[in-house]
Amino acid sequence: MNKSQTVQPIKSIDELASFCKRRGFVYPGSELYGGLSGFWDYGPLGVELKNKIKADWWKRFVSDRDDVVGIDGAIVNNQQIWVASGHVGSFADVLVDCKRCGTKHRADVLINDILTIPADSMTVEQMKETISKNNIKCPACKKGELTEPRKFNLLFKTHVGAVEGEKSAAYLRGETCQTIFVNFKNVFDTARVKLPFGIAQMGKAFRNEIAPRDFLFRSREFEQMELEFFADPRKLDDCPEFEKIAKKKVSVLTAAEQIKKSQNVTEMTFGELAEKVYVKSKWHAYWLCQHYDWLLELGISAENLRLREHTKDELSHYAVATFDIEYKFPFGWKELGGQADRGQFDLTQHSKFSKKDLSCFDEETKQRFIPYVAAEPSQGVDRAFLALLAEAYTIDGDRIVLKLKPKLAPVQVAVFPLLKNDEKLLKFALEVRKELKEKFITHYEESGNIGKSYRRQDEIGTPVCITVDFDSLKKKDVTVRDRDTMKQTRVKVKDLEKYLKELIN
Ligand code: ATP
Repeated sequence: MNKSQTVQPIKSIDELASFCKRRGFVYPGSELYGGLSGFWDYGPLGVELKNKIKADWWKRFVSDRDDVVGIDGAIVNNQQIWVASGHVGSFADVLVDCKRCGTKHRADVLINDILTIPADSMTVEQMKETISKNNIKCPACKKGELTEPRKFNLLFKTHVGAVEGEKSAAYLRGETCQTIFVNFKNVFDTARVKLPFGIAQMGKAFRNEIAPRDFLFRSREFEQMELEFFADPRKLDDCPEFEKIAKKKVSVLTAAEQIKKSQNVTEMTFGELAEKVYVKSKWHAYWLCQHYDWLLELGISAENLRLREHTKDELSHYAVATFDIEYKFPFGWKELGGQADRGQFDLTQHSKFSKKDLSCFDEETKQRFIPYVAAEPSQGVDRAFLALLAEAYTIDGDRIVLKLKPKLAPVQVAVFPLLKNDEKLLKFALEVRKELKEKFITHYEESGNIGKSYRRQDEIGTPVCITVDFDSLKKKDVTVRDRDTMKQTRVKVKDLEKYLKELIN
């Protein structure tokens, strides 16, 4: 990144949200009818960026590997899936209402925001005491008393078919991974896979969040990219690639520091993470590193990333150990992605509730066992999208520049004729564009104002702009302008493809 003094990063999430709307990345959902809180629609540039993030994840975590296969499960599921998974019983947040203005707040978020103490592991009773002891009022109207905290289940319920009743009730999936667990046996029996192996999936998930906020960060409909890595429970450290990642470094906020109410991070290697029993297995450390490396490669800087270990009290009902990968968003350090060691919880539960055997057979010991989910790289697409935009959005002097990695840019090469009313110029510019169209994602514009066209492309992250001028007609060359340095270079049209490939890839 250009570190000149005029360069400034994003100031607030609202600035980013209004930029996204203005440039066609993301619009508020149902806006024409007054909106619907917690839902967003991706626009022409947004969908390009989002698809690229998803394609990159799929390539890295599925297609490029021999030990992971993919599925695409249904969004609406039999209610028993969510009873067995524990979500009907315990997938709830704690809610308080303002008695004066009626605004609903998530109690742990409220306590965390106002008192800056972690509250996700507090019981309902502890939240009640904390709110009353500190005389916390409604932050929306600043005056209202709050109701007593109560639990609120986040699953969206619907009915399938013409008859409404408990029998026809179904749930929209609250996380994508449950459709992986309920298809474990199908995949195991049909995909010629052997333990250890992973099943990956990306798709929509739905949570009736009490207080959606911070733009795309917490919404009610979002997308997840998840991978469940199944291993033999006795072989959790048999990770052949471990040595390759063991020396890589990462900042970790350990559970021990959080218990001391400290935010001090420790620099350690992924090897130390596994050795010091912060994670239970080498496979878990390995997948944390894969996830972390993927974020770095997409363009997130290491200083804005850290791992945060969940404290024992905070662990979800299914988890043996969990690490969040946190990003320094404009509104503070928050979970970008996460990885739980889910042990044998999910397959055991689904075996019990479905009365189907989900165990595997061990040829050596001639015994059956339930596979162990050693790691679950889980990444919200929308949160990755948000972090990448926050990271890339830069004010450089008088221009806004989206410093996205070229492989993520919605447009890779923009082509402009210098003037918009010279036929020869237009014809040549269109020919240049036609040459490049199959090899790059291109945009063509006849604005007649190159300065403005450059600015517009800088704002949407286009790494390269090409201008065709009168010299081009004589010399068969064009001006290539770099988004970040604004450096302009004359390049022969015959060398253009090679030149651009080097610049972009
Ligand atoms: P949080 O603590 O922020 O509510 P979570 O721990 O419940 O998140 P997980 O259940 O671990 O989240 O979900 C995995 C990933 O899915 C998260 O790391 C995040 O990237 C994404 N995600 C979860 N909830 C939302 C949401 N409401 N809106 C957008 N993305 C979400």
